Amino acid sequence: MRRQAHGRHWRAHRARSEWAAAGAFATAPIRWQGERLMLLLLGAVVAFLSFVVAPGWASVAREGAGSTAESLVPLAIALPSVPPVPPTAAPAAEAIQWTTRTVERGQTLGALFASEGLPAALLHRILESSRHRDALVRIRPGQEFGFLRASDGSLTAFRFDPSDAERGVVRIDGGALREEVEQRVLQRRVATASGRIEHSLFAAADAAGVSDATIMQLANVFGYDVDFAQDLRRGDEFALIYEQVYQEGEKLRDGAILCAVFVNDGRRHVAIRFELGDGRYDYFDLDGRSLRKAFLRTPVEFSRISSRFSAGRMHPVLGRMRAHRGVDYAAPTGTPIRAAGDGKVVFRGWQGGYGNVVILEHGGRYTTLYGHMSRFASDVRVGGRVRQGQTIGFVGMTGLATGPHLHYEFRVGGAHRDPLTVDLPKADPLGGRDLQRFRAVSAPMLAQLELLGARDAVASR
Ligand SMILES: [Zn+2]
Repeated sequence: MRRQAHGRHWRAHRARSEWAAAGAFATAPIRWQGERLMLLLLGAVVAFLSFVVAPGWASVAREGAGSTAESLVPLAIALPSVPPVPPTAAPAAEAIQWTTRTVERGQTLGALFASEGLPAALLHRILESSRHRDALVRIRPGQEFGFLRASDGSLTAFRFDPSDAERGVVRIDGGALREEVEQRVLQRRVATASGRIEHSLFAAADAAGVSDATIMQLANVFGYDVDFAQDLRRGDEFALIYEQVYQEGEKLRDGAILCAVFVNDGRRHVAIRFELGDGRYDYFDLDGRSLRKAFLRTPVEFSRISSRFSAGRMHPVLGRMRAHRGVDYAAPTGTPIRAAGDGKVVFRGWQGGYGNVVILEHGGRYTTLYGHMSRFASDVRVGGRVRQGQTIGFVGMTGLATGPHLHYEFRVGGAHRDPLTVDLPKADPLGGRDLQRFRAVSAPMLAQLELLGARDAVASR
């Protein structure tokens, strides 16, 4: 019930803020529309709240992304998963008496206690004695709390989940409080989905039963090669193998994408998740090269290019021909600007027409520049280091600018280059035993994705 209600709310909101096709033309780029920032924030929230409980197996017929066929099919291949574990047995009598309350938006635990008619003093005692005070103070909408009462209505136990993998019970025995925390085993199941973009990526994902969190993950995985703000085309296709996290038979959320194919504008991109020797995971292409690159494709998410690199253009403020030696990304004031790559801050301050500007140096040969910022990130200082993707400042219109945008420059050996087309060094591929392991892991998943494609083809006949 709760999930459905939330699901409806989410969909209603999302309908206004999805990656949408600009028109009905095959070549028309699919653009971001308003509320993109909101979407990202909500995307993060979705990671916590698994709104979408649709089955993972879904295939989309060729006639359109709107039609969906779902079927439960066992995976015949060995994939990383944890075997199901039977739910922890609880005394039947106790289970019946627990009442569960779900946190609503803006609700505090204090408000929840008050609505249950429980004294604030009791909550204070629980907070004081609990080893999980932090988890109780910072509660999230959708979280569930349990209350167990004696026949006279007094509270005898309070139940909460400090994390996905833990369940805490505070027993209230007269004046004494006793906290028990048990570990709960998470199960990971493997699901597949595929879809074709007709109107927007999110509509296609919806039709395929894929959650927004997973689609955001897909955009991150391919984010070095595909600009999801600019490059999406009608007819683009995706197929995924991904994990779903369950707890005691109930789906908590979607987990990691294990393997994905994304066909963008006729180009096929493949990503395979692979564990490196040290326990870290990364995504690799078919040749075993990391998809991660030294530079991000776009330093501002959820933006559109408002002016490209050119040898000469009419300057909108100066009113005369002038080379535009960077790319402009229009975005609302305050949108975070990300460091394109790991580097060192060599300048942070005001520079004429650039207004507030940050210049980063990346290993001596490469320099990136970010202009017209409304303000800088507080932890960005000259001489300090920044990580790729780290927020270094915020979009604004300081200096010579007619509207809020980021002016982004990319220099190689001091010479200005077009950041959208400049050739960047590729990562070294996996080698030796890692490559062997990679081939062994990727082959069955790729075969599975091919099968998904074949199923679609069969469906369209
Ligand atoms: Zn510019």
